[in-house]
Amino acid sequence: MEITKENRKWLDAMGLSHPIVIAGPCSAETEDQVLKTAHLLKDTDANVFRAGIWKPRTRPGGFEGVGEIGLPWLQKVKEETGMLVTTEVGNAQHVELALKYDIDILWIGARTTVNPFAVQEIADALKGVNKPVLVKNPVNPDLALWLGGVERFQAAGISQLGVIHRGFSTYNSLHYRNKPKWHLAIELKKEFPDLPLILDPSHICGRRDTLLDVSQTALDLNYDGLMVETHIDPDKAWSDAAQQITPAQLHQMTLDLKIRQKSSTGQEFQRKLNMHRKELDLIDNAIIDILADRMTIAEAIGRLKHKENVAILQSGRWADILQTMIQAGADKGLSREFVEEIFKAIHVESINIQHNVK
Ligand code: PEP
Ligand code: MN
Repeated sequence: MEITKENRKWLDAMGLSHPIVIAGPCSAETEDQVLKTAHLLKDTDANVFRAGIWKPRTRPGGFEGVGEIGLPWLQKVKEETGMLVTTEVGNAQHVELALKYDIDILWIGARTTVNPFAVQEIADALKGVNKPVLVKNPVNPDLALWLGGVERFQAAGISQLGVIHRGFSTYNSLHYRNKPKWHLAIELKKEFPDLPLILDPSHICGRRDTLLDVSQTALDLNYDGLMVETHIDPDKAWSDAAQQITPAQLHQMTLDLKIRQKSSTGQEFQRKLNMHRKELDLIDNAIIDILADRMTIAEAIGRLKHKENVAILQSGRWADILQTMIQAGADKGLSREFVEEIFKAIHVESINIQHNVK
């Protein structure tokens, strides 16, 4: 797939300065709620207004969106505030209606990106229109599926494309509603540096208190913008109440964020260095998480052996692990000494942990 500088130009052409700030409620609820939120956002850094008109809910019974009656409210937002407007489309009928009411930018939801049939149907419905489309990552951590979504729009002739990173669903995360798995977005950015990348901290965090921190990480990683769910009365929101903030809180958040310069010849070196350091920090944290997970499993094995009265050290198994890992490391250009040293340390710690099991 060829993603060229053209892909970023549309943001400039629409007058969207760096970083783009897309803000607005999870769902359009009433005309009054939409317009009041938009008027308050007009005085913040937000330059695009979002609102879900059709809401894909994981389980039935929740609020599924106001539907077509909400689209004229978004038109009013445009007329009264001058902001651009965006909404989620999940099928060809949504596209037809969004075009009828002149929605400026369309986004594809995470539950839609997982389904190539649905994405293709939407791409076909957009043929010949060239509306800007932002593709959210699929709910599962599959980079190919995410890129596949972008490619389907590109093949349909849409050149104004971007992606939204909203995190990946997880069974039991304490900190995140959807784990960021930053490396997937970093991979995407590495391969296609000119495809605009926007962070949706709201669906990653699922709560208000961590939005700033997660958004700062994105700006440090040179993201092109943020999409933040914003509501006049977040606690009373009909969907995603826990993660929405008021326009005033959004304003404070953008003041607190350190906006990194995109680039400049003099700062290019520093910018790249900072980005790589941030990548390293994230990987180092991931290493710690993985080591902790490994030790939890070692502990479970220790309990099992203790119960069955089996010796802790199983020399054959350990020799196998070491050989396999030395080979796996060599395949990736890692030296034998390095891999041996690391795995010996891991093995010693595993044995210690198993010893302590009662
Ligand atoms: C949304 O943005 O309100 C939404 C439904 O997001 P996602 O598709 O990321 O779950
Ligand atoms: Mn939402």
